[in-house]
Amino acid sequence: AHLERIDGVDGAVHAFLHVAHDEALAFARGVDERRAAGDQLHPLAGVPVAVKDVVATRGLPTTAGSRLLEGWVPPYDATLVERLKAAGLVVLGKTNMDEFAMGSSTEHSAFGPTHNPWDLSRIPGGSGGGSAAAVAAFEAPLAIGTDTGGSIRQPAAVTGTVGVKPTYGGVSRYGLIALASSLDQAGPCTRTVLDAALLHEVIGGHDPRDSTSIDAPAPSAVEWARRADVKGVKVGVIRELGGEGYQAGVRQRFDEAVALLTDAGAEVVEVSCPHFEYALAAYYLILPSEASSNLAKFDAMRYGLRVLPEGVDAPTAEQVMAATRDAGFGDEAKRRIILGTYALSSGYYDAYYGQAQKVRTLIARDFEAAFQQADVLISPTAPTTAFKLGEKLDDPLAMYLNDVATIPANLAGVPGMSLPVGLAPENGLPVGVQLLAPATKDERLYGVGAALE
Ligand code: GLN
Repeated sequence: AHLERIDGVDGAVHAFLHVAHDEALAFARGVDERRAAGDQLHPLAGVPVAVKDVVATRGLPTTAGSRLLEGWVPPYDATLVERLKAAGLVVLGKTNMDEFAMGSSTEHSAFGPTHNPWDLSRIPGGSGGGSAAAVAAFEAPLAIGTDTGGSIRQPAAVTGTVGVKPTYGGVSRYGLIALASSLDQAGPCTRTVLDAALLHEVIGGHDPRDSTSIDAPAPSAVEWARRADVKGVKVGVIRELGGEGYQAGVRQRFDEAVALLTDAGAEVVEVSCPHFEYALAAYYLILPSEASSNLAKFDAMRYGLRVLPEGVDAPTAEQVMAATRDAGFGDEAKRRIILGTYALSSGYYDAYYGQAQKVRTLIARDFEAAFQQADVLISPTAPTTAFKLGEKLDDPLAMYLNDVATIPANLAGVPGMSLPVGLAPENGLPVGVQLLAPATKDERLYGVGAALE
């Protein structure tokens, strides 16, 4: 049914870069046979899942939205894909994304943008717009995203879906094509909080192949989602997120969500995170620095594309690398590589990268102080509803501003969830609110999220 739905609508939505038609059917048949043979199967066995194209999948093309990796077929599965398959989930295909997960609209994909199923002239968010759109358009019931600065949560907000960024280290990064290794986290994109909980428990938990993986089991997300209880829970409204620059309908739905929590027995307090105003600036130094280093491996020798420079008889390795990177990377990737190498260069390192790391510490302290006063924090996920395709494409700063509310969680490593809270009255487009919890307390997101749903 999902493959038929993809055939029917993906021409217009373009959520998928690759549909694994035959592999999915063969795998699903295998699950059916095990069921028929009386095997004890996981509750999600046989349920299809779409996977963001930044995650390595054995035998399926994995491009990270870039020409540089066009045609690359990984010889191995990411740990999270191994876990999906072990639980019997059926990998439907690979979803579209901004190149190397850099962006907030999926317009930086080398293979054309994804369209928001609510209004095809609008963006589905980014970088994981494909995963969110696939779920919103009923092409897949579940999807996997990755969130380095909001790429699960912001697409969820603008497509009316649920997206969770787990605690840093909660889901293995083994087999993700790294953007910024100290910020990257994979997580679920779904239509309900309970679906996200089920998926989170499948992919979460310790993995010895990821050195930053937390040595603990996955959170009891399902149990908390089923309980859906906020009585006596302290919810902190973040003063610095939600004022000026936030669309009226976003603020209205946010205020209603807070009122709903109060009615359901939560205790709402206001908290202040004064350093959040520097989060965006710090992120856009730390991320390009790490990205420039991670993307150095695309040297035309090891993976993917190789372009020979024109008019050179016997090009040097360096000339081949330059020609390949020039042809293979899009503008946004180049912009961030230049920014990152500059910020890391000797003489500037302390002034830029070093300063940004200090800001990161201050933001982590803001969270610590806020979590003394509240069990979970709440804010709008994104300042606006889905904007028009092309609207911010030539204005990187305007594009970056979309991440203002989501980035602090990545800088501090804390978990976050975006869930839908209705439509903005002015344009009828979905609005999301964000819940944040202390590191390793992901289950709280599910308890409060399910109560708000
Ligand atoms: N929009 C952010 C960026 O462009 C988010 C990236 C992400 O989470 N992968 O960096």
